[in-house]
Amino acid sequence: MTPDYDLSEEHELIRRTVRDFAVERVVPVAEELDREHRFPYELVGELAELGLMGMTIPEEYGGAGTDTLSYAIAVEELTRVDSSVAITVAAHHSLGTLPIFLFGNEEQKREWLPQLASGEKLAAFGLTEPDAGSDAGATRTRAELRDGEWVINGSKMFITNAGTDITACVTITAVTGEDEISNIIVPNGVQGYEIAPQMRKLGWRASDTRELSFRDVRVPEANLLGPRGKGFQQFLEILDGGRISVAAMGVGLAQGAYDLALQYAKDRRQFGRPIAEFQAVQFTLADMATEIEAGRSMVYKAAWLKDQGRAFGKEAAMAKLYTGELSNRAANAALQIHGGYGFMDEFPISRLYRDQKILEIGEGTNEVQRMVIAKHLGL
Ligand SMILES: Cc1cc2nc3c(=O)[nH]c(=O)nc-3n(C[C@H](O)[C@H](O)[C@H](O)COP(=O)(O)OP(=O)(O)OC[C@H]3O[C@@H](n4cnc5c(N)ncnc54)[C@H](O)[C@@H]3O)c2cc1C
Repeated sequence: MTPDYDLSEEHELIRRTVRDFAVERVVPVAEELDREHRFPYELVGELAELGLMGMTIPEEYGGAGTDTLSYAIAVEELTRVDSSVAITVAAHHSLGTLPIFLFGNEEQKREWLPQLASGEKLAAFGLTEPDAGSDAGATRTRAELRDGEWVINGSKMFITNAGTDITACVTITAVTGEDEISNIIVPNGVQGYEIAPQMRKLGWRASDTRELSFRDVRVPEANLLGPRGKGFQQFLEILDGGRISVAAMGVGLAQGAYDLALQYAKDRRQFGRPIAEFQAVQFTLADMATEIEAGRSMVYKAAWLKDQGRAFGKEAAMAKLYTGELSNRAANAALQIHGGYGFMDEFPISRLYRDQKILEIGEGTNEVQRMVIAKHLGL
């Protein structure tokens, strides 16, 4: 069979729809949201109406029932103009909602998914702890079963979407016995569960990032997600999928930086001509365009493999690593093309430059991706 590199009409329609939304609704407010560190409630409501908050969740649970490739395209298009909005969607979908869909029993799915997949409420996933980052298995948060309830003590660090006014719950990893990690759903508002104020950040300033603490927090035994002791395998699976989201963000950010640099190079005149006429600038743009093409192919392939029900962990890690580093080079080169103006807040490239760095840290650092890839290579 001849390989088909064209996207389907459906995929192209999703790209156009999300691009139109991003340009018409996100671009006008992105700078202000970033400056004020303000969570984009209004945009989340509109994204929910468009069906973009629970894209791959089946329609019977309130989602849009799309494939992973559609979702990757949507995340890419949002990141192209604003990473805070994109990570709000991606963390809610891939980290907050998917675990409940993948590992929840029917009762849990019926209870949580309709409100989450529709985007009416948000969900978070709490894996990272102050002393358990890359070494995520070093979780110290404990959950003890007492009189039909889990009693939880511990803390989580840097959790996206956990503390918004519309957050319904966080799924956390906790030690439930010797060498035993499990995932437990903790609804917002239960006694003893404290959500610290929004963290101040270099980038993703309009997204919600919190430290969480649990002091004798009691939740029903039935909030355990999947079989007891399967938490480690579950979060590895969640991270594999989540890497496709962050890789799509890498491509989107690089594309956004390229778009800004191309336009600027055409507009900015020095030495009596647009700087786009200088070969040094042309080569920079040519290199960016080439790498973006390569990165996009890697992301789409990982998404496609997942949609085929095939193994995709290696490809997702490779795509995440490559696009993280690609977006770093692209943001840096694009700012360089802007000269001193790129250093100013009113030029969007400065925001993209700040928003880029976390793409090499979140959902596993570049080093962790290399460790994952090496493992897939049998090393
Ligand atoms: C804005 C933001 C949002 C986030 N959202 C979430 C979320 O929603 N849920 C969640 O659970 N987490 C979230 N995180 C946490 C994120 O996933 C972690 O920050 C990340 O996994 C790295 O962990 P760490 O920060 O503890 O760094 P560390 O693990 O302490 O790493 C520090 C450095 O050491 C390197 N290193 C560590 N171990 C090794 C090794 N074996 N070999 C080589 N190098 C190594 C790392 O690559 C890194 O360069 C978020 C983080 C941020 C900043």
